[in-house]
Amino acid sequence: MNIKTFQQNLIEWYKKQGRDLPWRHTRDPYAIWVSEIMLQQTQVDTVKNYYTRFLETLPDIISLAQANEDRVFKLWEGLGYYRRVRHMQEAARQIVSEYDGRFPDNYDDIIRLKGIGTYTASAISSIAFGQEKGVIDGNTLRILSRIYNRQDNIALDKTKKTYQLLMDELIHDADPSMFNQGMMDLGAGICTPRHPLCGHCPVCSFCEAHASGRESVLPVNIKNTSKTDLYYITAILKKDDKYFLIKNKEGLLENLYGFVQYEVESPISFEESFHNSYGLTVRLYEYCKEIKHVFSHRIWHMNVYLGEIMDGPETAGASEPLCEQLYTEEEMEKLPISTAHRKVCAFVKKSTDSEQR
Ligand code: SF4
Repeated sequence: MNIKTFQQNLIEWYKKQGRDLPWRHTRDPYAIWVSEIMLQQTQVDTVKNYYTRFLETLPDIISLAQANEDRVFKLWEGLGYYRRVRHMQEAARQIVSEYDGRFPDNYDDIIRLKGIGTYTASAISSIAFGQEKGVIDGNTLRILSRIYNRQDNIALDKTKKTYQLLMDELIHDADPSMFNQGMMDLGAGICTPRHPLCGHCPVCSFCEAHASGRESVLPVNIKNTSKTDLYYITAILKKDDKYFLIKNKEGLLENLYGFVQYEVESPISFEESFHNSYGLTVRLYEYCKEIKHVFSHRIWHMNVYLGEIMDGPETAGASEPLCEQLYTEEEMEKLPISTAHRKVCAFVKKSTDSEQR
């Protein structure tokens, strides 16, 4: 690919067809920062009014750093995701204390500021300071996939890293501000997710996906949100008026206490597994209910049974003294127990309460 011509075509097009937006009339890093943070989860048209009002009220870093928090939040009211503005004020105070109130002028320092990620750092450093840092977001990932006709899944971090290198190669020796903003506008208006307007595309002659008629199947963007379903038998095991709990030594719930559970298909298999693990004999005698707990990548289906420990406190062959693993309801309350197993505790409590009534 002739990168020079690609850059020229894109930048010429941007100069003529680029969107006229309020933050495009400045090179003030503070103003660009405000616009980029607002644009993170908000439509361009909505941002325009907020941006103008925000800058009129808080025109620079010092005023933002010193502003009353309520006043800052009032200016943000309706934009949502209030953490963004809280981080902005923290970053403004960071700039005052660490950079004497002057916005840092390079990517490496900018990305250290609170609430600023790679995209925003690239946008500010390229637009305000002319650094050759290509912006990577959904728009530019899509364009690059199509230009190079690549099948990489853009939902993956490793693809973002690879494409960052492609972008940095494409931006090299161009006007970084114009180039990045050209790519932003190309993605927003021409190289759209569905039905890209290839006939109006300034870089169409470079587009390998278009040449092979594959632009509509790219990019590959498969978000693996599927959760794994895990099915357990979870036993509320009692010995007299105490409950048997274990402390997890590893895994997802390391150091937290919980009831014993196994991925087994029958109460008999549970009893065997339990005996193998603890050297104790148990008998499950009643099915209670299924308790579901959703983690970020898995769902636990806990089929809760009531059971009793048949052995005495000094059972030969037990892996640990039984008395050290038995807890009253009051003692259970004080133990660190995972939320999933707290649901089982709540069931225990409810059952005990209804028995006492
Ligand atoms: S030719 Fe079409 S698919 Fe290729 S970059 Fe341009 S708009 Fe996107």
